[in-house]
Amino acid sequence: MPNDSILTQRSIVLTDDDRRIRDEDLGDFVPDRLFDAHIHLFHPGHTSERAIPWTYADLDTIRSWSRELWPGRDVHFLIQGTPCPGLDVAAHHSWVVQQAEQDPRSRINRLVTPGCDIEQIRQDVMHPQVIGLKPYRLYSVTGDIHECRIHHFLTHEQMELADELGLWITLHLSGSDGCAWDCNLKDLTEYTTKRYPRIRWILAHCARSFTWWPIRQAIERLRDLPAIWYDLSAVTDLRPILTLLRYESSERIFYGSDGVDAGFFRGKYVTLGRAWQGLDVDRLHLAFPHCQARPILAVYEQLLAFRHAAEIAELSPADLDNIFWKNAWREFGVVRTAPSRTE
Ligand SMILES: [Zn+2]
Repeated sequence: MPNDSILTQRSIVLTDDDRRIRDEDLGDFVPDRLFDAHIHLFHPGHTSERAIPWTYADLDTIRSWSRELWPGRDVHFLIQGTPCPGLDVAAHHSWVVQQAEQDPRSRINRLVTPGCDIEQIRQDVMHPQVIGLKPYRLYSVTGDIHECRIHHFLTHEQMELADELGLWITLHLSGSDGCAWDCNLKDLTEYTTKRYPRIRWILAHCARSFTWWPIRQAIERLRDLPAIWYDLSAVTDLRPILTLLRYESSERIFYGSDGVDAGFFRGKYVTLGRAWQGLDVDRLHLAFPHCQARPILAVYEQLLAFRHAAEIAELSPADLDNIFWKNAWREFGVVRTAPSRTE
């Protein structure tokens, strides 16, 4: 076990500006029950690396955040394995399972790298709360995390297993063009329609479209594919969310925050043309000469964008209920404490 001094956590302190947005702008938008389909737990003791981008977050941490972010709401999670250099995947996964067992309505996608043993994965996904896999481009066998194809970080043997068991896979697409990259579209078409029809894909971050351009190019092809879902996590620009809501069924979209480190910082994912970057205002010196208001948490920026997009796209209360809760209830069986994939 690591020394406690390395268990730094992102402090759960809301500013007056955060609370104003939460209560005045989002209070009647965020429903009483919420399924956050994209959240991370992490323990730095499970990696040999010293310079790591994640802070300590266990189930208590994300529950404490939830109580501040969305007071009075019933919140459960689809916990994504957290990709990190030098990670002991087995130790990380068994700790995540221990954490998730404290909340039988939460679910887990097991972190998977090309080096993971197939029989170990099979054994791990037999746990009733483990519903799928979380691959990540960081583990690409090509060594190029920016321009790699799906099979470079999720082997065909692993996809065969996922197909056999009907697993979910939360996929952060690689490639500068994200979902608009022809290789990604060709691969997803082949996998969903021919090769692995029982895999259920959740394309994270609006199909990794933080800007308008990728989803604008790809949505008419993606919406025709079977077994494709999306999560809204970390996208704070109105345009990709609006495009997704206009073209896709609300039954194929999950709410997700990408907390803690990727969603609960003060700032947003800014877009500049087709470029985008996470902008953490606590690392900058901004003056705000024209206003008294100050920046808020990125997760509230995301919800403001989602709310605005939902109004323009004229989503019904039933559509919003699908995205915030009902899709998870239906697809992940969260109403039961011991779900069975065979039902
Ligand atoms: Zn994430």
